[in-house]
Amino acid sequence: MSTTLIGPFRQLLPLTGLPERGAIADEQLLVIPEGGVLVAAGKIVAVGKWQDLRQQYPTAVLEEVAGDQVLLPGLVDAHTHICFAGSRAQDFAARNAGKSYLEMAQAGGGIWSTVQHTRATSQDALTALTRARLDRLLANGVTTVEIKSGYGLNVVEELKLLHAIEAAADQHQVAVVPTCLAAHLVPKDFGGPPEAYLQYLLDELVPVIEQEGYCRRFDIFIEQSAFPAAVARPYLLALKERGFALTVHGDQFTTGGSQVAIDCGALSVDHLEVSGEREIAQLANSQVIPVALPGATIGLGCAFAPARRLLNAGCALAIASDWNPGSAPQGNLLLQAAVLATFEKLTTAEVFAGITQRAARALGLTDRGMLATGCRADLVAFPTNDYREILYQQGSLVPSRVWCEGG
Ligand SMILES: [Zn+2]
Repeated sequence: MSTTLIGPFRQLLPLTGLPERGAIADEQLLVIPEGGVLVAAGKIVAVGKWQDLRQQYPTAVLEEVAGDQVLLPGLVDAHTHICFAGSRAQDFAARNAGKSYLEMAQAGGGIWSTVQHTRATSQDALTALTRARLDRLLANGVTTVEIKSGYGLNVVEELKLLHAIEAAADQHQVAVVPTCLAAHLVPKDFGGPPEAYLQYLLDELVPVIEQEGYCRRFDIFIEQSAFPAAVARPYLLALKERGFALTVHGDQFTTGGSQVAIDCGALSVDHLEVSGEREIAQLANSQVIPVALPGATIGLGCAFAPARRLLNAGCALAIASDWNPGSAPQGNLLLQAAVLATFEKLTTAEVFAGITQRAARALGLTDRGMLATGCRADLVAFPTNDYREILYQQGSLVPSRVWCEGG
């Protein structure tokens, strides 16, 4: 088996040995000077000093990097909606001009406008749009990304989105985790209450997904205006019984979602902008990973999730982009994580863990998000000699090279 030794990197941060949950001090970050990574068959074989690895593995093929480079594990974006068509620039402008949600909906905006654009777009065109967004994520250092459906909102259209996501994933290096978010909103053309729509999904969509294996995760938007907690709970429990992993959009505008996520054994609850002391304490007592979505805060101009308090309470906070056309159109995870850090006072170690290993765990993945023997060789190099420059430059320091499974 051929092995490749990649390096030397001025600093290599394996992000190993960090606590699984709770606050992390920067002193806990291991920094290997003049480091290297030995890779074989897409996996990491060894991590250490470049010179030591050269001596220990004299037959390894050398892949030398030039100049100042800092190496991190590939980034994990655990929450996106990048399979969509159309723009919501009109909504953005109207919201900033003081228009209400209702006025925007009456003017043809909101999630429903994205649903209409996406329904009117062919599966192949959606695949191409998704692939182009994957290119942008990869250029920004993301090597694993979750992509939700949720702009189809009926059986045929949701399956079209899941097919488009699958095709984009097949054609791209970035590892894709698909999630079914058919429970994003009750579509205007359904003609029934939320509970009837969820029952329709359980009866007509879920069996197809189960049979064809399009995804193994389901999500729901728990909110008074979408699916109230009492309506969401039986849907999630039915999915859990069928063996699906769960995630929840919760506590964005009103509380209640995080409690349902805990009760139903979800892997993560994402948003949490309005979570208070009660919700934070409950999450800290659970296995659910809270995911902050600063891109939505920046897009909507609302509060950030209480990231500092969640970490201090002992949660394993992850950070994701929520890239979507309505509330988070920008899609730059590193920029958003760096901004969250300044507002919430997060250490560099907490941010790095939140966009790598803790984000991977929010997706149920433990084979990535750190540079350790046996992990996927997903790597991102930045053109600097000081790892602190990465967040300091707030997304402006673009990776010089990204490796997915070593290539
Ligand atoms: Zn979202």
